[in-house]
Amino acid sequence: MERRLILAITLIIACTFGLQVVSQNRAVALRRESEELQATISMAEHSAQLMKQVLHFRIEANGLDGATQEGTAREADDLTDVAMNIGETVNAMRMDAPGTFDWTEQRYTFGNLDQVVAAVATGGETKHQALREVDRMLASAAHLQEQAEHRRDKAYASLERSTRQWFGRVSTIGIVTLVLAAIILWDLSCNILPALRRMHGSLRRLADGDLDLAVERFTLRELRPLAHALETFRRNALAVRDLAFTDPATGLPNRRAFIDAAARRIRDMAAPGGEFIAVFDIDRFKYVNDDYGHAVGDTLVQLIGERARAVLGDDALVARIGGDEFALYARCPAGETPAVLCSKLAAKVREPFDFDGFSIAVTISLGYVERGTVQDDAVTTLISKADLALYASKRNGRNRATGFTADLEDARNLDRMLERDLARALSSGELRMVYQPIYAVSDEASEVEALVRWRHPDLGDVSPAQFIPAAERSGRMPQLGAWIIERALSDLTQWPHLSMSINLSPLQLQQDGFVPFLLERCRMHGIQPGRVILEVTETVSIERNTRALLTLELLRNAGFRIALDDFGTGYSSLCMMKTFRFDRLKLDRSLVKDIQADATSRAVFDAAVQMARQIGAEVVAEGVSEHLLVKSASEAGCTHLQGFHLSMPVEAEAIESFYAEQAAAQNTETGGPASAAA
Ligand code: C2E
Ligand code: CA
Ligand code: CA
Repeated sequence: MERRLILAITLIIACTFGLQVVSQNRAVALRRESEELQATISMAEHSAQLMKQVLHFRIEANGLDGATQEGTAREADDLTDVAMNIGETVNAMRMDAPGTFDWTEQRYTFGNLDQVVAAVATGGETKHQALREVDRMLASAAHLQEQAEHRRDKAYASLERSTRQWFGRVSTIGIVTLVLAAIILWDLSCNILPALRRMHGSLRRLADGDLDLAVERFTLRELRPLAHALETFRRNALAVRDLAFTDPATGLPNRRAFIDAAARRIRDMAAPGGEFIAVFDIDRFKYVNDDYGHAVGDTLVQLIGERARAVLGDDALVARIGGDEFALYARCPAGETPAVLCSKLAAKVREPFDFDGFSIAVTISLGYVERGTVQDDAVTTLISKADLALYASKRNGRNRATGFTADLEDARNLDRMLERDLARALSSGELRMVYQPIYAVSDEASEVEALVRWRHPDLGDVSPAQFIPAAERSGRMPQLGAWIIERALSDLTQWPHLSMSINLSPLQLQQDGFVPFLLERCRMHGIQPGRVILEVTETVSIERNTRALLTLELLRNAGFRIALDDFGTGYSSLCMMKTFRFDRLKLDRSLVKDIQADATSRAVFDAAVQMARQIGAEVVAEGVSEHLLVKSASEAGCTHLQGFHLSMPVEAEAIESFYAEQAAAQNTETGGPASAAA
């Protein structure tokens, strides 16, 4: 384009310059030629005049015959006048075109006219001779006239030719210039400007983030590399966008893409109409990765994504928003509810996944929120509500779907408050320990379980079931755990006849230097590790955690006894018994409470007790809340009993008097917890 324009403009300039040169040259030549024409015209006129004058002279000379003296003198004067006129004309002709005629030639002798006049006036033979001379002059004038006219005609023709030529050249150059200008104009308006406009349009769309445009192939040489660069930029930007919006493992949209797409759908559908947002994650997905490797884990995630699509339909949005986390945006078909749809999905995912030579069964936990049930329609808000419901699903045993309710939010806010206030509670004496007696069925050994209490200045008593998880979430568990151990051990120094169960958070088992810390505290307080039973729960699966297992081994080797707490609430209790040899099993309240009423519960309870006894572990029945349970649990083979019916947790200051009263009571009746309970 640039070269084309430069060439065309150079040509126009050259043409204009050529026009100028040609015009100037021609103007000079034409002036010269017109001057010459003027001279030849003047010469022709003079020669015609000369011819007339010579003829007049001839006639006058002929008529001069000398009849009267007076008449002769007058006629001679006239002749002399004519001769003088001839002389003037000849002089004028000499001036017209000097050098055109050689006036010295014999035949041009108009110089001796006065002698001719005199000879004519003389008459006779002299006159005849003079007349012959005049005839010669006549011939000469005729010749001159002929010559002059010929020259004039030639000059005229030449001028005419030159003018035509000049006109021709000027016209040609003018036309060429016009044609060039027209071509440039056409090129500019039909090719260059539209191409520039299109390129500008492409640039604007790209700048506006429209990556779906097709960058055209330009024919203009200057635009070709630019178009190429634009196309490369567009492709790169597309790749970056895809990378930024797609989960590479599953090809599903990622969190950002989900938020954008769901927001668009919500915008397009002004009034809520059965749409819901759900989030779910794969229960214990970590174990799949640990047991089968990450490649299988990735494939599983992908397959679960496909099943979600199959259940929810093509219209639903299914996105992977985290390692094993998915988000859904779907619309309930008529007659269905989000709860039903989510349960269907959970059931579909429960079907085993076939891999090459093995199959994997997993469950998912879901949380959902229906559009229109919360005020804020923002996708991120809806996701956070669904997340709350998801955590409720997890808390309640996984493999289920929970809908968002305002209660969940209140619980979450309370959790936040607890997390925040724990630091203060630790330093301002809001925490204390209470001790719940545990009774041995067959001997007199006395034992208590240390339980922590928090009296919140605004909330009153907060359950450890609530604030221990808050401490674990907020990273305060090591600090809180250390406080509990310190307090419990220092209390235990006052009760030399008691042994004590202390609850440990799974996080403490993974804490650096926990074993030396515990040993050091026991040494400081002069307490034998054998008096301390450490209760651990199976909630964070210890059997998969080598570090926790190692800590347990170290603690046992140091002389502490280890109890598995809350047996019967999780799904892997039996596995745990295999991985680590616990000294004691504490059967959870939920296992104990129905043994009186329900035969199946009784069978499960009996089996658990039998198994524990066979591996030589003690068995504690927790939650003995009524008299009948004392008998059943003891008969089933439990070695220990604990529960509100036997004793509520006792304040530290009251422990001594509590046991004193117990001893007094035993002295009056016969001992043992069963009889105490009776
Ligand atoms: P846990 O270890 O199973 O403790 C027994 C819980 O059951 C205690 O609740 C106790 O008060 C309650 N309980 C005892 N007998 C009965 C009964 O007959 N009926 C009923 N309904 N409940 C009974 P608490 O003190 O609220 O503790 C709840 C949970 O909090 C504990 O369950 C334990 O997991 C945790 N926790 C309590 N104190 C500590 C602690 O010092 N450290 C750690 N890490 N966790 C603690
Ligand atoms: Ca316990
Ligand atoms: Ca327990």
